[in-house]
Amino acid sequence: MTNAKKILISGVKPTGRPHIGNYFGAMKQFVDLQDEYDARIFIADYHAITTVQNAEQLSRHTIDMALDYLAIGIDPAKTLLFKQSDIPEVCELGWIFNCITTMPFLMRAHAYKDAEAKNKEINVGIFDYPILMAADILVQNADVVPVGQDQKQHVEYARDIAEKFNRTFGDTFKLPNALIYENVKTVVGTDGQKMSKSYGNTIPLFATDDEIQKAVMGIPTNSQGIAEPKDPDTDNIFAFHKLFADEKEISEIEKRYREGGLGYKESKDILIANMKRFIAPLREKREAFAKDEEMIRNILKENGKKARELAHQKMEEVRKAVGIA
Ligand code: AMP
Repeated sequence: MTNAKKILISGVKPTGRPHIGNYFGAMKQFVDLQDEYDARIFIADYHAITTVQNAEQLSRHTIDMALDYLAIGIDPAKTLLFKQSDIPEVCELGWIFNCITTMPFLMRAHAYKDAEAKNKEINVGIFDYPILMAADILVQNADVVPVGQDQKQHVEYARDIAEKFNRTFGDTFKLPNALIYENVKTVVGTDGQKMSKSYGNTIPLFATDDEIQKAVMGIPTNSQGIAEPKDPDTDNIFAFHKLFADEKEISEIEKRYREGGLGYKESKDILIANMKRFIAPLREKREAFAKDEEMIRNILKENGKKARELAHQKMEEVRKAVGIA
C-alpha cells in the first residue's frame, strides 16, 4: 500500500537546552502536524559538530534532545524520531551536492554572512551547512519543512539544489517547501531581539520556576506609570503574553494596555504565572521519560534503522543518476 500522506521533515541541533523560540517557532508544529503528515523528525547531531566538539557533551545533548521531543508530545508511534548521524548517506549526498554548488551561492546565505560580519571563526562545516541541510531534506523526499523564519532561506537553498540536480542529472528530487507560521516566525527574546542562544536572551523551554521568574523580571521596560496607556505592539512583555495566555486573556490584557491601568509589574506577574502553568507539566513529563534512558536509546536505534532504509532507497536512485551505482 502506498502512503498517501505528504512527507514532513525537520530537525533541531542538540546544542544544549532548547528555548521557547525553538518550541513555538518549530517544535510545536512537529507535534501539531504529526497526524496529518508522514512525519520524520531528527536530532541534528552532525550539524551540532560545527560547535559542540566534545564527545561526552554531544552524546548527552543528543539523549536530552530526544527527551525534549518526547516531553512536548512527539509520539514515536506516529513520528519517525531519529538521529541524523544514523543516516551517513546524508554526508554522501552532501558531497554530491557540493560538486554542483558554487561558492558564491553559499556565500549569499544569511547565516554565513552574519557569522562573517561578526568576525567569527567560520569552519567549513558552518559554511557548508545549507548543503547538509539540503541532503537531510531531499534524501527523505520531503514535501514540507516546518521551521522558523531564520531557516527559510536554507529551505529555499534545498529547493534550488534539487532543481540544479534535476537539471544536471535528470528528475530525481521533489521540491520541498518551508512551512512557517506567521505569528511565531520569529519569537523575540527577553531583550526584544530574535530569541537566540548567541544573544543570551533565551528562556529555556524546560525552565525551572526560578529561571522563569528571573528571566521575566529581567525584561527591560520603560518608565511609564501604571495609569498611562501603553502600546502592546511595541511591548516585549506583551509579545510573550501572546504565546502563553489564551485568546480571552490576551484581549483583556491588550485592552488594559491601551486604556492604561496595567503596570509592568502586574503584567510580568501575569506572565510568570502563565509561563509556570504552561512549563510545569512539560518539565514533569520530561523527568518521567528521563527515568528510562534505555528506552530512549532503543527508540532512536529502531527509528534510525527505518530512516536509513528510506534514505538508502533514494540514494540508489541518486547513485544511478550520477553514474556511481
Ligand atoms: P536550531 O537550534 O538552530 O537548530 O533551530 C531549530 C529550529 O528553531 C529552527 O527551525 C529555527 O528556525 C527555529 N528557531 C530558532 N530560534 C527561533 C526564534 N527565535 N523564533 C522562531 N523560531 C526559531
